[in-house]
Amino acid sequence: MVFSSLRCIDCGHMYGIDRSRYRCDRCGGLLEVTHEFGDQLYDFRKRGVWKYRYLIHPALPESLTVSRNEGATTMYRSDRVSQYAGISLHLKHDGENPTGSFKDRGMTVAVSEALRLGMKRTVCASTGNTAASAASYSAVAGMECTVYVPAGKVSQSKMAQTLAYGARVVEVDGTFDNALEESLDLVEDGSYTLNSINPWRVEGQKTVLYEILECMSDVDIISVPAGNLGNTSAIGKAIMELDTLGLLKKVPRLVAVQAEGAAPFYRMWVEHSESISRVEPVTVASAIRIGNPVSWKKARRAIEYTSGTVVSVSDEEILEAKRCIDRAGIGCEPASAASVAGIRKMVQEGEISRDERVVAILTGNLLKDPMSPVGNKV
Ligand SMILES: *Cc1c(COP(=O)(O)O)cnc(C)c1O
Ligand SMILES: [Zn+2]
Repeated sequence: MVFSSLRCIDCGHMYGIDRSRYRCDRCGGLLEVTHEFGDQLYDFRKRGVWKYRYLIHPALPESLTVSRNEGATTMYRSDRVSQYAGISLHLKHDGENPTGSFKDRGMTVAVSEALRLGMKRTVCASTGNTAASAASYSAVAGMECTVYVPAGKVSQSKMAQTLAYGARVVEVDGTFDNALEESLDLVEDGSYTLNSINPWRVEGQKTVLYEILECMSDVDIISVPAGNLGNTSAIGKAIMELDTLGLLKKVPRLVAVQAEGAAPFYRMWVEHSESISRVEPVTVASAIRIGNPVSWKKARRAIEYTSGTVVSVSDEEILEAKRCIDRAGIGCEPASAASVAGIRKMVQEGEISRDERVVAILTGNLLKDPMSPVGNKV
């Protein structure tokens, strides 16, 4: 028998998984899923996220899985992008997921869990991609979905996608952080939260790491764009768990890349601060335009555990990297290019040596934010 529980990351209090509140009743800390792994870790009948069901949600009955065959995305290697980055670089393209971003990896698990818990309605706040993903998976599960977005700050294609999947969209004045605060009212009223405080999303997002390791058994560095820090936390948790199971040859260094104008986690890291200070986020990379990242403690633990680092890059560097990835025939949305821009910067600053094996994760599809290649003329 395999057991999963929820544990408060601050006070360590344990809870059973049959609950839909993901803050600690005692101290308000975030909860995370913990597993007692059995002998079986993979389900080889499956491809993508659910191949790893025993590592992410072993207690979920298969009949309750809400899946669109997410995961199993392509790993690219492009001479053009490698030359640009200054190192042989692998690109894991999670924009190839069903709704066009890595969010689907987490959403398939969280919406399945909503079904298992008997929830009827879902809610999230979003800069766009979480909204589209939540709307799609909620529709597949037959649940009503409401999303809160910062008014006028979500790309038209993400908005169109979300509305097409049938979600109710509430526009909030201000930033993502304000939208998140407002969305909490519906959570109080019994809607199931699909934001990244939902620890099941983190479980699903671990799978990108498993896929990277299946493709390249030795990886030295993994870089990821960092906004609300759910993905950084998830990849870190996957690494920590595999390491504890004795299944890692070496612990890859995790690099979280923030946009200069939305870099509270970077600031905390370089200043060795005890806690994060909220900023007013400004960047072209809308998917990482977040000033008060909710998962910073989980993410900090991930960076520390892996001896990784946090990097910040300017909008110009992001757009330049995006132009290169686009011209290589691969393409991505602006926020995604931050991972490549961050690696290029580290190579230039001598923080990565030539023989290291590096993977940059591309988080979103090119078509997600087509208005932003302003200045993309050659
Ligand atoms: C959500 C998102 C991010 C940021 O991920 P976090 O887990 O919030 O750090 C980066 N890129 C894209 C395309 C996204 O949709
Ligand atoms: Zn607690």
